[in-house]
Order: sequence, then structure tokens, then C-alpha cells
Amino acid sequence: MTASPHAVVIGAGTLGMCSAFSLAEHGVRVTVLDARSIASGSSGRSVGVVGTQLTNPFDILLRIHSVRQLRDWESLGLGFNHIGYLRLARTAKQMELFAQSVKIQEDAGFRSRLYQARELQQLIPHINPDGLQGGLFGPDDGFLDPHEMCTFLAEKVRALGGNIFQFCELVDVKRRYGGYKLDTSKGRIDCDFVVNAAGAWAPAVAETFGQTLHICPQRHEAVTIHLDESLDYTMPMVMDLVNGEGTGLNFRHEKRNELIAEIHKVGSPLPEDPDNYNDQCEENSKVKLAELLLDRVPELPGARLGRGWAGLYPVTADHRPFVGAIKPSEPTLITAAGAGGYGIQLAPVIGTIVTDWVLHGAPVSVPGTEMLSPTAARNVPVNAHACLQSVAATEDYLGSPNL
Ligand SMILES: Cc1cc2nc3c(=O)[nH]c(=O)nc-3n(C[C@H](O)[C@H](O)[C@H](O)COP(=O)(O)OP(=O)(O)OC[C@H]3O[C@@H](n4cnc5c(N)ncnc54)[C@H](O)[C@@H]3O)c2cc1C
Repeated sequence: MTASPHAVVIGAGTLGMCSAFSLAEHGVRVTVLDARSIASGSSGRSVGVVGTQLTNPFDILLRIHSVRQLRDWESLGLGFNHIGYLRLARTAKQMELFAQSVKIQEDAGFRSRLYQARELQQLIPHINPDGLQGGLFGPDDGFLDPHEMCTFLAEKVRALGGNIFQFCELVDVKRRYGGYKLDTSKGRIDCDFVVNAAGAWAPAVAETFGQTLHICPQRHEAVTIHLDESLDYTMPMVMDLVNGEGTGLNFRHEKRNELIAEIHKVGSPLPEDPDNYNDQCEENSKVKLAELLLDRVPELPGARLGRGWAGLYPVTADHRPFVGAIKPSEPTLITAAGAGGYGIQLAPVIGTIVTDWVLHGAPVSVPGTEMLSPTAARNVPVNAHACLQSVAATEDYLGSPNL
């Protein structure tokens, strides 16, 4: 290896671009390849929500690290809409977990508070609180445009001397002593490290290296909702879902007269072929979504469904991302993939962990992140139904497979 290692990042989605920027900032020579264009995979199909309203302390810690990074990028010009994030609770037990979350976030200097059911209309005048105990609200959370985030980072990477090759697909690999010769659709590239950030295609990229990676691409649908009149308040991101208790949804303001909603069907997502899946929202999903929305926020002025689409969550068996080497014997091939429904909000912290692996051979910046390595215990086939059931049984993982 030379004094300044050369890392090739495969995939220009949020995980790839955050990894590339973090590496470049730390003096690593970086080349990013994407088989298509920047943010053309799951990242460009996401609803872009970033927040810290989770209940597991480690999951909160990861997001706190990401949000701090995003605040820095915001000060450099990245757009971020601070509309707030409200996670609804239907049981007293969920409210207890939310109270613990408030404490953890407060200790880290993040604002968050509990709302009782009777107080929810202070936040959302249209909300129907029937069946709710209350909610957890983070006023500083919000959403960004993942495509803008990727292009913002691409500019920064280029400014630091990195290269980004679009429509450049990795097709074959030859190992050389201490590194690789990568054959791409645009020619050969020599490098010391490879970061596999190919999202739903990461298993295929791993296979090119003779390795096995278990990531299940699961299809998720989103729809826009047009309103006849603007609301006189901002609709925060609302997560109205309890795992294992049937279909749920999340929704948020997008523009003055427009909301975006995403539907979550418990037990439904089966593996998809990322090169050949239905990328449109199905009519029956739209009908179900309209029912759920009207139930939770009745009397939205003239609400009607607009454009819908579908994209893929790249999901691992335990619903946490893979960051690290598949085989300790090959520490130069680093996986950064499998962030499921959280790949926008987790991307900045994942970029930091990737850089740790390249520069230090271990994650040193964020405590506990060695557990994100795709070890043999974690890198196991994803059984969608069993997986969702086990997550549903763990209240601490509230909402984890989703946002
Ligand atoms: C409807 C929907 C809503 C979502 N909402 C949210 C949300 O609100 N918040 C959140 O945090 N997350 C959300 N997500 C999840 C999030 O979008 C994903 O977790 C994230 O985009 C994954 O990013 P990635 O970089 O791993 O993969 P991708 O964005 O898919 O990038 C992988 C890239 O690799 C490239 N590639 C593949 N094979 C090769 C190859 N052989 N050579 C070169 N390049 C290759 C692809 O072209 C692609 O551009 C949502 C997802 C969906 C579908």
C-alpha cells in the first residue's frame, strides 16, 4: 500500500457517498463507481426522514452521531427541513420506553418530549387521538432530499480530489498483493481498499469477490397527498405504526399543499430482484393508505392521492446495517450496506465507521460499532416473516424495520 491508500467505493447512494466523503476528508484517495447515476438506487426513492426518536440506546447513539454530522453539512449548505418527528404510542409500555428515550436524548443535548394523547392536537390539530396513549416528539428532526445530499457530497469529494464515475459498473475483480484490480464497464482500476456500498445489489457485488452477503431487498411504497388548502401548521413526520399490530403508515409535510405518506404492511415484504421489481405503488396499497390516513387525520381539506412509487429497503436478518469486513482475513473489503428503512439517517455514521476500518482496522470513533460487522453470526439468510415476528416481539425495537 502507498502512504495514501486508494479506496474504491461501489455505489453512489447515501451510504457510498457518506463513506466517500469521510474517507476523502481523512486523506484517503477515493474513487466512487455507480452502475447508474448518483442516488439512482433506494436513496432516490426514499422519503428522506432523519430523526432520533427511537428507544434502543445504541440505535439512538448512532443517529445522534449522524445528526451531528448533518448539522455540520447543513451549515455548509445542505438543505434540511426541521419539521419535527412524532412517534405515536398505543400502550403505556411504549410511553415508558419513550420516556427513557427522552432521557437518553436529553443527556446527549438533543431536544425531545412526551405528549399525552390529550395534548397531541397542540401539534396536529387534525389528529384523531383514539386508541393512542400519546407520543414522543423531537422538534429538531426532519427530512432532507437524499438526491441533494448525494450530489452535495459528490461535489465535496471532487473538491478533495476524488473521482466519481457514473454509468460505470463493477464487473470483475482480480486480487493483487495488498489490494485489487477492478474491471469496470469503463476500464480497469487499481486500489488498496474496496467499500461495497451497493445497497440491494451488495450481495451480487460481494459474490464478485467470492464472498456471501445476506441482504434481502424488500419493497416499500410511498404516495403523495394533495390538499385543496394549505394547512395553517406544519405536519411533522408522524410514525403511526406499532410492529406486529397490523398495517401502519407514516406521513409528513412535503410542500405547502402536499404531504407524503408511506405504508408499512406487516409480514408482506418478500425478497425482490433489484433489477426487476414493480417500482410503482399498487392500487390496493393506495386504498389502504387512504383509509389509515383518514382514520388518523380526518378532515384534511380536500385530501386526495397523487403520484405513488415503490423502492427497496436493503434489509439484514437483525435489521441493523453491515459495516465492516465479512472475513477478518480480508480487511480490505469493507461492506457498508443493509441499512433497511434507515439508510438516509444512518449514512453519516456509517461513513465514519467505514473510515475507521480503512485507517485503523477497527471502529474507534463511535462506541459499540464493532457489533455492526457482518460476522458469521449476523450475516445469515433473511427470513422476512420470522424476522419481522422477532422484531415485533421486542418492544425496544419499536418501529425498527421501518423509519
Ligand atoms: C419508499 C422508501 C422510503 C424510505 N424512507 C426512508 C427515510 O425516510 N429515512 C431513511 O433513513 N431511510 C429511508 N429509506 C431507506 C433508504 O432509502 C435506504 O436504506 C438507503 O437509500 C440505502 O442506501 P444505499 O446507499 O445503501 O443504497 P442505494 O441508494 O440503493 O445505492 C446503491 C448504488 O449501488 C449501485 N450499484 C449496484 N451494483 C453496482 C455495481 N456492480 N457497480 C457499480 N455500482 C453498483 C446502484 O446503481 C446504486 O446507485 C426509504 C426507502 C424507501 C424505498
